[in-house]
Amino acid sequence: MKVFYDQDADLSIIQGKVVAVIGYGSQGHAHANNLNDSGVEVVVGLRADSPSRGKAEKAGLAVAAVPDAVARADVVMVLAPDEKQPALFESDIAPHLAPGAALAFAHGFSIHFGFIKPKADNDVFMVAPKGPGHLVRSTFTAGGGVPTLIAVQQDAGGRARDIALSYACANGGGRAGVIETTFREETETDLFGEQTVLCGGATALALAGFETLVEAGYSPEMAYFECLHELKLIVDLIYEGGISNMRYSISNTAEFGDLTRGPRIVNDATRAEMKRILEEVQSGKFAKEWMEENRSGGKKFQRLRDRGRAHPVETVGEKLRAMMPWIQAGKVVDKSLN
Ligand code: NAD
Ligand code: MG
Ligand code: MG
Repeated sequence: MKVFYDQDADLSIIQGKVVAVIGYGSQGHAHANNLNDSGVEVVVGLRADSPSRGKAEKAGLAVAAVPDAVARADVVMVLAPDEKQPALFESDIAPHLAPGAALAFAHGFSIHFGFIKPKADNDVFMVAPKGPGHLVRSTFTAGGGVPTLIAVQQDAGGRARDIALSYACANGGGRAGVIETTFREETETDLFGEQTVLCGGATALALAGFETLVEAGYSPEMAYFECLHELKLIVDLIYEGGISNMRYSISNTAEFGDLTRGPRIVNDATRAEMKRILEEVQSGKFAKEWMEENRSGGKKFQRLRDRGRAHPVETVGEKLRAMMPWIQAGKVVDKSLN
């Protein structure tokens, strides 16, 4: 697999273009500010009533209504929420997109599952940093970058890949490594990873551990430290040097427990369920369910969100984190700015 770095890209390509970043959320604020810092002409496209407008203006960025931003742009990076992209594309993007302009995404969802069907004369590419937007920005300002995927779905002008690579580097990706993939591969692996391991798997695991200890009569504070707080310390060691690096650092007792008990937690039944989840991703069943949930008002999503926020692990966690002020001191999410 080929990995591209800054020296493989021509930054001047994207510096010669006007980039409209649509949306100023997690990814939007990061792309807009990183590109701006890299000498690219950026205009942030937002709804007139967008609560993000003040944040983008405070950062010194040019802000316009979505149709105006699109009309001015050579590259339109669509960073509105996936579930809102199709309607936004129909009403505010497609009618104003210049012939030959490039349409870009940070996730292949809308294109791969066919919710957005661009015209044949537009380039369609992806620049997907493999990390949360707030880290895409904070890593960039610290001089680094987040590993980034690029993919080309439509190459109308014959230079889509070069533009994508140039954009990825302006966003900091070339400092960490840029890998070329396809819309299909990015979309399906991203959804599978976040559902089974990163977001769904990790939270369900921590909650099940917390609940098991509390139900057995242990204090919620102890349960929080053992099953959630320490997760970060373990993951940091894995991130730094792989699973062996983590096992080198933990006690032999912990390591023996890890090796003998771990496979009983993630067992054949778990793997079978993972396969079913992958099939739901590949067949488009998950994508259909998610879009249908939004069309019908998003009530189930809200109910599940509310239930998650009300869980005792959140209450006890808030109390304990307040006693560890150093955690907040270096925080990357400041809701008033990003
Ligand atoms: P987000 O929810 O954080 O922000 C979306 C922003 O879009 C809002 O802040 C708002 O400024 C704007 N917006 C909302 N509704 C809109 C509308 N109807 N019209 C115009 N603008 C609107 O979104 P996000 O998590 O940054 O996701 C954006 C894209 O990036 C998605 O395709 C997502 O899959 C992808 N992505 C996100 C992350 C991440 O770190 N969150 C990581 C990789 C890829
Ligand atoms: Mg994702
Ligand atoms: Mg221990």
